[in-house]
Amino acid sequence: MIYREALPSAAAFLLCALFLVGAPAGGEVVVPKDVPERARDLMKAPVELVRINDFIQMARGVGNVFMVSTPGGNVVFDTGVTWQSEQQRALLRSVSDGPVTHVVVSHAHGDHNGGIAAWKVALDAGAELVAHERYPYMNRIYGDTNEYLWKVRTGTLYPVQPAALVAEFRSFEPTRLVDVHEDYEFEAGGVRFQVIAAENSAEGEDALLLWLPDHGILFTGDFYGCLYPMVPNLYTVRGEKVREPLGYVAALDRLIALEPSMLLPAHFDPVHGKEYIVKTLEVTRDGVQYVYDETVKGMNQGKSVYQLMRDIRLPPALEISQGHGKVSWNVRAIWELLAGWFYYEDVADLYSVPAREVFPDLVELAGGPAAVVARAKKRFLAGQGLEALRLLDVAKASGPEGEVALRLRLTIFEEMLAKSLATYDNMSETGILQASVKQTREALEAKLP
Ligand SMILES: [Zn+2]
Repeated sequence: MIYREALPSAAAFLLCALFLVGAPAGGEVVVPKDVPERARDLMKAPVELVRINDFIQMARGVGNVFMVSTPGGNVVFDTGVTWQSEQQRALLRSVSDGPVTHVVVSHAHGDHNGGIAAWKVALDAGAELVAHERYPYMNRIYGDTNEYLWKVRTGTLYPVQPAALVAEFRSFEPTRLVDVHEDYEFEAGGVRFQVIAAENSAEGEDALLLWLPDHGILFTGDFYGCLYPMVPNLYTVRGEKVREPLGYVAALDRLIALEPSMLLPAHFDPVHGKEYIVKTLEVTRDGVQYVYDETVKGMNQGKSVYQLMRDIRLPPALEISQGHGKVSWNVRAIWELLAGWFYYEDVADLYSVPAREVFPDLVELAGGPAAVVARAKKRFLAGQGLEALRLLDVAKASGPEGEVALRLRLTIFEEMLAKSLATYDNMSETGILQASVKQTREALEAKLP
């Protein structure tokens, strides 16, 4: 606004003309508010060979594996999950069994680096194992927390996955680390490759992307997550470090400047069309920036984190899928990233006695769990399901739940699940609610004669 008003009219006209020249031909690009794919469908992805063009093949799977074939050797991008990786490698090698010069891993999640061992022969023969400078750190912390996460969390969220594997793939050391502001460029058989280390991504701080500058093709790994386009998953319910929103915005800026004409993601299908790609990347970036700005503004205005979780919504023009990331959880993630977990509300939160330790006292004072459950029912009937759930949790702290409480709990979870499926259908949210429905139903059945 300021610039336009300060410009003389001829210059303003020229500026407008330049924008018109840069506008996409053939009308407005439509950015979808949601996408048909769902993350849970990945487990059903068949292992199959997909020809991308005359020199790139994709071995589809839970995590896609790509091979770029050149007269100077093959470049592999990502390695898939452990249990599909041999089959994926065999499919790619059926197209070309020439030497492999590079194996590039997009990041340290097991659906991307889980298949490294399938390429051991190539690595032993001298292929470079290329990773982000933060990869060894991320690989380490995933390994350190694997036992806890599998036992307590991942098994709840993804019950269809095979049991936790001994993470042997984490022992492969990269031979080439790529720094954030120093792209790694190489050439093989006349094809130029540029490995880009992102500042941050929607799946961790160790995202590598592979750019083919002469072809406009960008291998994205899990840079934006498993859906495209989607609200980034800055907070994982399964338990990982919060992803840094401003770093992600900076990384998106770099990718937008490349103007890719094709994205090859490690999940689901390729994305085509420069205008569509640039526009969707811009909307994703602007949405992250918006949620960040609104959260910071609300903090400075003295609003609580819960108030902001409730009130901050993407404006219609920036709405994209919340099938994996969720705006309200991102609000809380940004809050805690910037200001930490102590909210300056209850001093007791600084110490090791949680509120739930005194719930049994409250239940006793109320005259027993039945009175609290009755109040929960009243709240539920007044349309306050979450308040009812809180009251049930208070009652539960004084001992195992009875049939009335379990029935109410089941109804609440079932309603929450139905609502979740009918709105954002967020994988983590529905995963938690499905597990909660199942556990409650089992507890109820155990009570019945
Ligand atoms: Zn992934």
